Amino acid sequence: MMAEDTDEIRKKIKKELDRSRYQHTLGVAYTAAALAMRYRQNIEKAYLAGLLHDCAKCIPTDKKFELCEKYDISLTDSEKENPALIHAKLGAYLARSQYGIDDEDIIASIRTHTTGDVGMSMLQKIIFTADYIEPQRDQAPNLCEIRQMAFTDIDRAIVRILSDTLDHLNQKSAAVDPKTRETYEYYLSLTDNGP
Ligand code: FE
Ligand code: FE
Repeated sequence: MMAEDTDEIRKKIKKELDRSRYQHTLGVAYTAAALAMRYRQNIEKAYLAGLLHDCAKCIPTDKKFELCEKYDISLTDSEKENPALIHAKLGAYLARSQYGIDDEDIIASIRTHTTGDVGMSMLQKIIFTADYIEPQRDQAPNLCEIRQMAFTDIDRAIVRILSDTLDHLNQKSAAVDPKTRETYEYYLSLTDNGP
């Protein structure tokens, strides 16, 4: 059963997001819960982190900059050039201040859900992966294989997600956050034979 305050958070988040982002959010929350079962993590925490991971996503870009300024959240050059990245860092802040989350692992999993990070906790890996594989996703290549891999070897799934993400960004000639490449190289070196 879902704890009462978790359901309160769900209702609050529903108001903050547009319809498709809310559907995506529920997909991430349930997928994170399933991965938590597989990797013996706290299911409620994974669900909650999934619910909150995109809490800052639907804030207009100028307002995102305004809030970061107001709350003294420092942005990297990469985030300034690619404001879509800001929702992770700002979301981590809002999870604490607006949604009353004090669990550092949940906060960290929101902060790193877009680019990943080196040395992620299992919850951080779960949210990063769930964001990519949740049932409504249908654009990325190799989803079928990555979905299966997420439940067999999450580190290898992370390597595949990051290598496909880097390929996609390169094809579009889009900017790559240095963290994305750093995370890729870290998890590639951890897994035996690469992706
Ligand atoms: Fe996101
Ligand atoms: Fe997301």
